[in-house]
Amino acid sequence: MTATTSFHTCPLCEATCGLELNIEDGEITRVRGDRDHVFSRGFICPKGAAFGKLVHDPDRLRRPLVRDGDTHREVGWDEAFAVVEERWSAVVARHGAASVAAYVGNPNAHTMSGGQYLRPFLRSLGTTNVFSASTVDQMPKHVACGFLYGDPLAIAVPDIDRTDMIVLLGANPYESNGSLCTAPDFPGRLEAVQGRGGRVVVVDPRRTRTAAMADDHIPIRPGADAFLLFALVHVLFADGLVDLGRLADHVVGLDDVERLAKDFPPEAVAARTGITAGRIRALARELADAPTAVVYGRVGTCTVEFGTLASWLVDVVNALTGNLDSPGGAMFPLAPHLRRRTPAPGRGFVTGRVASRVRGAPEVLGELPVAVLAEEIDTPGAGQIRAIVTVAGNPVLSTPNSERLDRALASLELMVSVDPYLNETTRHADVILPPTDSARVGHYDFSFLALAIRNTAVYSRPALPPDPGGMDECDILARLTSITTGRGADADIDGAHDAMLTGLIAKATGDGESVIHGRDPAEIAEMVEGLTPSERLLDVTIRTGAYGDGFGVDPDGLTLATLVDNPHGIDLGPLQPRVPEIVKTTSGKIELCPEPIAADVERLRGALDTPAPELVLVGRRDVRSNNSWMHNVEVLVKGKPRCTLHVHPDDAERLGLADGAPARVESRVGAVVVDVQVTPDVMAGVVSLPHGWGHDRPGTRMRVAAGRPGVNSNILTDEAAIDPLSGNAVLNAIPVTVSPS
Ligand code: SF4
Repeated sequence: MTATTSFHTCPLCEATCGLELNIEDGEITRVRGDRDHVFSRGFICPKGAAFGKLVHDPDRLRRPLVRDGDTHREVGWDEAFAVVEERWSAVVARHGAASVAAYVGNPNAHTMSGGQYLRPFLRSLGTTNVFSASTVDQMPKHVACGFLYGDPLAIAVPDIDRTDMIVLLGANPYESNGSLCTAPDFPGRLEAVQGRGGRVVVVDPRRTRTAAMADDHIPIRPGADAFLLFALVHVLFADGLVDLGRLADHVVGLDDVERLAKDFPPEAVAARTGITAGRIRALARELADAPTAVVYGRVGTCTVEFGTLASWLVDVVNALTGNLDSPGGAMFPLAPHLRRRTPAPGRGFVTGRVASRVRGAPEVLGELPVAVLAEEIDTPGAGQIRAIVTVAGNPVLSTPNSERLDRALASLELMVSVDPYLNETTRHADVILPPTDSARVGHYDFSFLALAIRNTAVYSRPALPPDPGGMDECDILARLTSITTGRGADADIDGAHDAMLTGLIAKATGDGESVIHGRDPAEIAEMVEGLTPSERLLDVTIRTGAYGDGFGVDPDGLTLATLVDNPHGIDLGPLQPRVPEIVKTTSGKIELCPEPIAADVERLRGALDTPAPELVLVGRRDVRSNNSWMHNVEVLVKGKPRCTLHVHPDDAERLGLADGAPARVESRVGAVVVDVQVTPDVMAGVVSLPHGWGHDRPGTRMRVAAGRPGVNSNILTDEAAIDPLSGNAVLNAIPVTVSPS
């Protein structure tokens, strides 16, 4: 028996914890937190501990499947790609490139291939029908930052380790470990805030585990965060508490924000938020008085009808209290693959360069809202979607009105899925191309190191040897790109990888701001020889990045080899102020009151007088779940059923619901029957269902999940409701009725 230890970044959520893997005869036999990891320092959650079980899940696909009538049969890779080529070409020939679409799930953010090969593939499709999980839960933050800073990826994260006060809205890091904020052991870091005399305040309709540990839990009516935040802004201005600190010379639009906030005094929003005016005023003063403080808003603030307004106001409050881009406040990370920039006006941020065909929803960040996907498939006419590629996504469970999408996918002429599971979505696929598992490929977090509360650099080499019959996702995407660009399924893949490298180097050597500007591209290419295709690209990115060696310019700078030599990661220090460097608006200033956002405030003002629905549905998260495929590992689903409807005792009594008994939950678009769990941990007038369940569809191959199917909360969510600025789905505050079943 051969036994080895390997260190690997956990790819299962945004926290990027370091894992220590014990490997015996090619199998991961034990997983522990990597105690020497510079960022996570041994922290691990139940999902990370189950990493080996996820990798070795017997239901995981390792060879391609091709549809054969009502079932799927395993085929070789060449046959699978040949089927894709023949049928893809036929659809494009019949209906044109506008008839094809792509849906990209969030696991793509956890792979190197997702950061390197996905975008070229999507571009190769020649369609504007690109959809992703971003419009399920995070697009409002991108849009708000795009308008504020001119860069939708410039997201300020809470500097938890140095703050004196943190206010969390719609976030439950005790279960999620953070999102759009990479902070391994987020709970421990919150407890450290308290340990050094600071305060943790949670604003949430549910008494979550995070709310329970907080110094103060402020229950709020679902969907009302924008009202609360505007009232905080109102108080900050009215009480003379505004202090932009070092950003004073870098901000425009302050007066406009003050003018808009006049309509939202605490008294005006008290009924809508369920929070007294006195408590709102006190919170504003606490934020202003704390030596450092930060407001952090997450899923609950984004997945609502005023998601972009709430996301914008989070940053506005941080700016007005002098806590934006300041230690202990909200700060902008500088990951190793990013570059420093000479401060200068940029091109700004625009949306709506194209619109969806059926309802005219504007494009945002090159994609359309996933809430319109079903109608784009099932509405006849020119440009109707007839073929789709899904990459690591399960939109039949994760997107609104999923019953309609389920039916729509079944009607397509062709569906191709790059996915390791035959799940509720991929059961509709004609071809499934399963990438090799994440322990067999290198790992670098393009997305999450750029959202980290501390600057770090970590690269994990493959922990397990390659599967001789498997295929790396970068090869799958390169071959699909060969097909969609007309070079064919048999095109030389090495040539495709080389072309990617050549393009990346040419871009850097031709960029006046790059450290290798003007260098000989051939010389640079030679210096990354001997690495895998993904590693070559990563090495160029790291070496030309903020801390890179510039291919010899700075001998102490980072290279991929340095990262390989440091499997526990390299600490690059606490976050540093980055304004004005990060600002890319056309004015070169932070646009605190961007016109498109200001225009949407009228909608919020109008909603002040709209009575809230009597009963609304919100989601919830469990530490053992992130994506639906995690429901196929016994250790992550065993125990008491988790997919229950949380109901407040007062509502249970009023509605005649009994603990443990089934109830029928009905919304405008659908109905489910689910067992009730009566609990005071949810506000009266609010019920809660977790998401990602509903594993009862025929034709899937996820045996453990099928044994505990639960119900799909997105049967209830309404595809007609979106946040108009971002196109984000409204998955919280869904009006529902509940009755005994
Ligand atoms: S918190 Fe996230 S990154 Fe850390 S072990 Fe758990 S799943 Fe993995």
